[in-house]
Amino acid sequence: MSKCNAETLLKEHKLKATRQRILVLDKIINTGRVFTIQDIEHDLDAHMDQATIYRIMTQLKKKGIVREVLSEGEIRRFEISCIHNPVHAHFQCVKCKRIICLDRIEDQITKSLSRKYSEYQIDEISLNISGICDKCK
Ligand SMILES: [Zn+2]
Ligand SMILES: [Zn+2]
Repeated sequence: MSKCNAETLLKEHKLKATRQRILVLDKIINTGRVFTIQDIEHDLDAHMDQATIYRIMTQLKKKGIVREVLSEGEIRRFEISCIHNPVHAHFQCVKCKRIICLDRIEDQITKSLSRKYSEYQIDEISLNISGICDKCK
């Protein structure tokens, strides 16, 4: 998967590329997929306090650089939202709560829907699929 550059992404969204923002966004970009704020905190270890990470996450979410992934349970999960990671459905395992990104499923749904409902324009699909993952099965 090709990736965006943290600094470029910040500038594109009119956010000043501060050292701390770059540090957080770099982690997010390199994490690749779904992550929690705790993951970022853990990765950054002693380099940044929790309040700062939360503040940066709020800014990134507001600007649409990260999106929240709907999941069961208390822990909030996010993922990068850039041209390399377009909106897609997620699968959550009911046992381990792991979330798996389901790529390209929208394309197929859109295709089959547009065959049946050709007069409708589909802009967005949100799907939450749950079950038991390969590791827990
Ligand atoms: Zn599982
Ligand atoms: Zn995803």
